[in-house]
Amino acid sequence: MKLSRILSNRNGISRKRANALIAAGRVTVNNIVCREAAGEIDRFARVNLDDAVIQAGSAAHYLMLNKPAGYLSATVDDTHNTVLDLIPPDLHRDLHIAGRLDRASTGLLILTNDGTWSRQLTEPEVKTPKVYRVSTASPIAPETAERFAEGIWFEFEQLRTSPAQLELLGPREARVTIYEGRYHQVKRMFHAVDNRITALHREKMGDIRLDESLIPGVYRPLTKAEISSVR
Ligand code: URA
Repeated sequence: MKLSRILSNRNGISRKRANALIAAGRVTVNNIVCREAAGEIDRFARVNLDDAVIQAGSAAHYLMLNKPAGYLSATVDDTHNTVLDLIPPDLHRDLHIAGRLDRASTGLLILTNDGTWSRQLTEPEVKTPKVYRVSTASPIAPETAERFAEGIWFEFEQLRTSPAQLELLGPREARVTIYEGRYHQVKRMFHAVDNRITALHREKMGDIRLDESLIPGVYRPLTKAEISSVR
């Protein structure tokens, strides 16, 4: 929301007066004077007019969870355990999942209450690399890497996936890097080459790598460097 609007909304002062107060240097955002009335301020920022608190600023949360199999990537569900069951309730408020994993899939799952931040990780246009280790039912055919690099046609969405990389780790094991996060994307890519995934584990999203010291079911806050790697 624009700074002038925060000021006028919260205090019943006119927009004109808000602009004047901002221009006079009486308004701070996170303790720094801000003279830009049209500047966009998120709900995490603290806004003061002189000594009066106009917006306290809510805490931003950024968590990495080592998702175990069997948990739904959802915040509520009537029948299944959800990943929120693994996070203390006092952190639940407004949390959402930045890039779901299927119920049987494991590994890096990021939860946050900062939607602007998470969109940078998940929107297909941003093309954030997501790295998965997969096991397959049949041996991985030699031409699979080339097929993935060409992109796989998804009939339902009427689109071709961005070129993906496949690194063979064994006859039925591979590391796959994709640049979108479409519904069941990796499974559907293997289905398109007549194979089937038996295990799928996310290792990395952008520059954020799953912390191997987290046992399945355990989470930790992201570090400052991990948070600022997404911009
Ligand atoms: N692709 C899939 O098919 N499943 C996941 O859980 C993640 C990516």
